[in-house]
Amino acid sequence: MPKSPFTQRVLNIQASATVSAFAKAGELKRQGVDLISLVAGEPDFETPAHIRDAAIRAIEAGHTRYTNPASGIPELKQAICDKFERDNGLRYSPSQIIVTCGAKQTIFDAIIALIEDGDEAIIPAPYWTSYADQVRLMGGNPIIVPTAQDADFCMTARQLQNAITSRTKFALLNSPCNPTGAVYTRENLEALADVLAGTTIYVIADEIYEKLLYDNAEHVSIAALLPELADRTLVVNGVSKSYAMTGWRVGYGAGPQNLIDLMIKVQTQETTNTCTISQYAALEALTGPQNCIERMRRAFAKRRDQIVSRLNQMPGVSCFSPRGAFYVFPRVSELIGNSSPRGRIDNDVSLCDFLLEEAGVACVPGTGFGAPGYLRFSYAAAADEIAQGMDRVEAALGRIE
Ligand code: PMP
Ligand code: GLU
Repeated sequence: MPKSPFTQRVLNIQASATVSAFAKAGELKRQGVDLISLVAGEPDFETPAHIRDAAIRAIEAGHTRYTNPASGIPELKQAICDKFERDNGLRYSPSQIIVTCGAKQTIFDAIIALIEDGDEAIIPAPYWTSYADQVRLMGGNPIIVPTAQDADFCMTARQLQNAITSRTKFALLNSPCNPTGAVYTRENLEALADVLAGTTIYVIADEIYEKLLYDNAEHVSIAALLPELADRTLVVNGVSKSYAMTGWRVGYGAGPQNLIDLMIKVQTQETTNTCTISQYAALEALTGPQNCIERMRRAFAKRRDQIVSRLNQMPGVSCFSPRGAFYVFPRVSELIGNSSPRGRIDNDVSLCDFLLEEAGVACVPGTGFGAPGYLRFSYAAAADEIAQGMDRVEAALGRIE
């Protein structure tokens, strides 16, 4: 066989399971298929009007060139510092902030700066689909730590301890978690911080769903627990989820100066800056009225109750009630191995295909999140779509025996 002209690193990774499922559902809808898509990890709300207006004002004021510096306009970096101090009790100087094309780029830039061939990154599963493949792209090995539904999908201190080797470069913590909706408690995080104290291991703390909490859950940033750990923690956040701004592509990170400086160096060779107009919109998001967040959060909370209760009434389905984000991640392993009118359900991927074809409902298989035997449904969709989607799923699952 002739050698592929393409790199093994790229050939070895998968396309993002979420982005691919989103594209597939979009294509079917464009073809006119009657489909309810509970795939997308994005709010169905419009970006609030005051934020849109700020972007229009930015265009009219001539903010249409590269930003200077490329790593983010100074006003936005200051607003991000103020947000960290106000919301998380974390103090950074503007030089410790990087603004990127979505949080996805913040995470990848950090991984580019931290991971070399053979290095390890500890990633609790179920995990957001991009972490592991971004580590692989840099030649690293994701060390996947499976967490259990009965343990609220949180990695324990003992699990973390057992996963550490001399090659461990960083541990990834995502709270609230996509796809499970798990929220680490202060006690969970203190126990993890104790394990990491005195090591040289970095933490990437992905807190992008920070504002989407239910049942009085509290968001705690691990960086705020231990000053020593703050010096090795990159806190990742962004405006995509809290302000319904997924398309604007603004994420940000804050961390130790040496790491941020390297990430900024990478960014200058990669994307230069994220969209200038979007940065002005993000500035308005962080400094303008905040009541839009609560309005959306309340809507998500209602839909969460609706979808969790529907799923838990379905035979063979067991759904953890998420305390954050906007996904449910029901266990469907009891249905695997059964037969359906369209053939045997071999795994979560075939169950997902079955629901697409038989019910016209799109979701994402747990395998894409390192957790076979589960499905992910987003409830960032209109309540009547969720209701209709659940009716269809229930009817289709009734045809599995
Ligand atoms: N982290 C998590 C856990 C996510 O679900 C997402 C969703 N896209 C991101 C990071 C990246 O978000 P964005 O690039 O839109 O800021
Ligand atoms: N984070 C969202 C999701 O999980 C959007 C797609 C992506 O960037 O992964 O569906």
